[in-house]
Amino acid sequence: MDYLPIFVNIKDQHCLIIGGGAVAARKADLFIKAGAIVTVIAPELKTEMKFHLSHGKIVWQMDTFSVEAMANLTPPKYVISATDDEAVNQAVYHYCQLQKIPVNVADQTAYCDFILPAIVDRSPMIIAVSTGGRSPVLARVMKARLEALIPAGFGRLAELVGRYRQKVKDTISHLDGRKAFWEKLLDSSFIDKAVQGRIEAAEVVLQQQLDTVKAEGQALPVGEVYLIGAGPGDPDLMTFKGLRLLQQADVILYDRLVAPEIVEMARREAERIYVGKKDKWHKVQQIDISQMMVDLAKQGKRVARLKGGDPYIFGRGAEEAELLVKNGIPFEVVPGITAAAGCSAYAGFPLTHREFSQSVSLITGHQQAGAEGVDYARLAQSGDTMVFYMGIKNAAKIQAGLLEHGMDAMTPAAIIEKGTTPEQKVTITTLGKLAITIEDNLVKPPALLIVGEVIKVRERLLK
Ligand code: SAH
Repeated sequence: MDYLPIFVNIKDQHCLIIGGGAVAARKADLFIKAGAIVTVIAPELKTEMKFHLSHGKIVWQMDTFSVEAMANLTPPKYVISATDDEAVNQAVYHYCQLQKIPVNVADQTAYCDFILPAIVDRSPMIIAVSTGGRSPVLARVMKARLEALIPAGFGRLAELVGRYRQKVKDTISHLDGRKAFWEKLLDSSFIDKAVQGRIEAAEVVLQQQLDTVKAEGQALPVGEVYLIGAGPGDPDLMTFKGLRLLQQADVILYDRLVAPEIVEMARREAERIYVGKKDKWHKVQQIDISQMMVDLAKQGKRVARLKGGDPYIFGRGAEEAELLVKNGIPFEVVPGITAAAGCSAYAGFPLTHREFSQSVSLITGHQQAGAEGVDYARLAQSGDTMVFYMGIKNAAKIQAGLLEHGMDAMTPAAIIEKGTTPEQKVTITTLGKLAITIEDNLVKPPALLIVGEVIKVRERLLK
């Protein structure tokens, strides 16, 4: 280890920055954020540093560095030299060595008592990355990766946990017990609730867990459910959040349309249960699935319910969520890319376009028994791009319904099979030939029907 990573409290401490340029201003910014009293010695200030001055964040001594210039200053705790004058940097360094003040000469590791790492700021949580001065660019690349990995609201989580530290200490006297409590809590959706700023919901989970410890004498696993949208097929279309919760789960319940690669991404020891509905005779009833989730969660399991596309678009996610609410089971819903968005983009056209369509309708081609049918009269007049889910079997009815209410038979239509997967097949036809094309091409599910002028954009985008 070249350097000792250490976080220093510099609140209300005098710190000195030599130089008025952009690099000096960036360093000043960090010292300001950490609450230091910052003095800048420079003959002139560039824009960024002027900004600090005009906001009252720094004190400016208009001067070049010299031992004499230091005479009027409160001795600083830390010094940064960021000038483009080699002689000045050297002079600062030697002065600080003599006075035993830690100094950092920007970009010159040999003249640094300390270095400033690249940081990911999720205050109060800070992650520091350093390559020991070997490659600031590498440190920044690493920082960028961490930025993507750690949700922006992570600071809220750290804040909340900090607030409850004492209360948990008062409730659970043993160190081991407290450790178990926090580990269980921080391995649940408590994190996601806090990160999203749903602080009250997070506090409910925390309090529930504390109550359990009081009643049981120990922390029990948090039983909960994650309704996760797995996207339309391409496993890369799952969200970061979906992946994070999936990898937290003890049991995975997955549908037929969920990519096998996504099911694979769960923890190795997680139990995987297929609840797809292949045909009338071998289906797991919806009610059974919902009850299974409730039972598992009550056993203290974290259950990931993976659904194709988005859980709340023709996914019956809300029905499952309702039963969870009735049973007092905490749950998270993670939206996914719905088939309409995924399939159209991968097929090469948008769903809206200023020239062709200002609105979109998502329609189920397979109505629940007894429910009202599709309002073809309204649709035909709407100018919407129409996306029919589960519409293959009823394609003839859809076609007739729309034509009957005055739509042009030449309106472009697209049939997208297994969209976003390597086996994606796109067939472009017209509304007038929709049903016959489906028959001739032996179209197989899952397939999406899209009707609308916007499909014409595909020609422009094809290379
Ligand atoms: N919740 C899902 C939809 C479930 S309904 C979502 O948001 O996408 C199932 C229907 O979605 C299928 O009958 C089909 O019409 C459509 N669908 C889902 N994935 C598809 C895919 N990869 N390609 C084409 N259509 C798909």
